[in-house]
Amino acid sequence: MELKDAIQIAKKARLNARASGSNYYVGSCLVTKSGKAYSGCNIENCGIQSICAERTAFVKALSEGENDFSYIVVVGADKDANVLDNCLPCGYCRQFMVQYVDDDFKIYACFGENDTIEEYSICDLLPNAFKF
Ligand code: ZN
Repeated sequence: MELKDAIQIAKKARLNARASGSNYYVGSCLVTKSGKAYSGCNIENCGIQSICAERTAFVKALSEGENDFSYIVVVGADKDANVLDNCLPCGYCRQFMVQYVDDDFKIYACFGENDTIEEYSICDLLPNAFKF
């Protein structure tokens, strides 16, 4: 799967976010090494059990038996924004992801009017990670 296609999947997933509390709508697209895509969005509630777009995608993929992940695209903005913010995974998501990815796993933050991409490795975002 090409990165530009994954960006479109993440943008579409963002539209399904449940984020009336934060007004911050995030979409993701997790791509496996075999090229399969799993979309995700943030799903908030009134308690503290909200889940981010990244973990939604990972939970979907892991629960379908996927184990080998290549990269994830993350897009975020307020509900009506056409321009995406530079949205990076939160600390919970970084710690969650590191357990299930190799060191070459990439995180792409897509933002701006022209779909600017910033590329990070999981090691960039979570150096010296706690893993077991
Ligand atoms: Zn998160």
